[in-house]
Amino acid sequence: MTEWIEAKIKKIKIWTVHLFSIILEAPILPFYAGQFAKLRIKHKKKYINRVYSYVNEPKDKKLEFCIRLIPKGKMTNQLYHLLPGDSVLITKQSNGFFTMFEIPKCKHLWMIATGTAIGPFCSILQDESELYKIKKIIILYAVSYVTELIYLPLIKKIKKKYKNRIIIQTIISREKHNKSITGRIPILLKNKKIEEKIKYFINPNETHIMLCGNPTMVKDTQHFLIKYKKLKKHFRREPGNISIENYW
Ligand code: NAP
Repeated sequence: MTEWIEAKIKKIKIWTVHLFSIILEAPILPFYAGQFAKLRIKHKKKYINRVYSYVNEPKDKKLEFCIRLIPKGKMTNQLYHLLPGDSVLITKQSNGFFTMFEIPKCKHLWMIATGTAIGPFCSILQDESELYKIKKIIILYAVSYVTELIYLPLIKKIKKKYKNRIIIQTIISREKHNKSITGRIPILLKNKKIEEKIKYFINPNETHIMLCGNPTMVKDTQHFLIKYKKLKKHFRREPGNISIENYW
């Protein structure tokens, strides 16, 4: 049975009108970078829960979750208005297989995220323990507007440590930005704009892809990778090249 424990809010970081991060402390059990927890609050005398991936690395005492405010959403509206000292409930045990322990040794690991789904990658990138098995990490970080690249400074800081082992490519869908590619991931893969810009090419012998974000983006990208790049879904019992976070 799920064990819920009290978490104390330490800070709410407001990034944009719709994006915020909640920082809390709670005596959770150890988790692996890339995993998620459930948060629970009371709404009209009933409990409601949602799943969020940790942004922080496992050794941090402060637990961070990145959230999009859904206008009229029951959960996110209440979380947005929390103040330091308030509390919510969190699962003591974390879950999920979107971790580096599940990723085979490979030459090029592509981390593909839309919006708040950059969270689990921030956790994975900060926790160095399993990154030794990858030669090059290619991060595709896609958002609608430049101001939504809220974790880009953190990723750039991590990149400094790894030097040219990490490549970051931002993708903006709703405005032009000189360092970013304009558009949406599945189409930009299909028309080769991403590969031609970064000069790395997806192929089944060298590439592993971690996909996290908008469910339709995940579905369409996976479809493209299987059909046109001859990649296969990765399972423990049957190794392949595509790993997906799907907790929706
Ligand atoms: P989002 O909806 O993923 O939007 C961000 C970017 O994705 C925008 O550029 C958007 O393009 C593009 N996009 C949207 N639909 C697309 C599609 N069908 N194909 C290709 N690109 C598409 O941003 P979000 O609201 O932050 O949502 C993040 C998603 O990740 C949610 O589904 C969430 O459940 C999941 N997730 C969240 C966490 C977490 O911890 N918060 C962790 C893992 C996964 P447009 O501007 O053109 O719409």
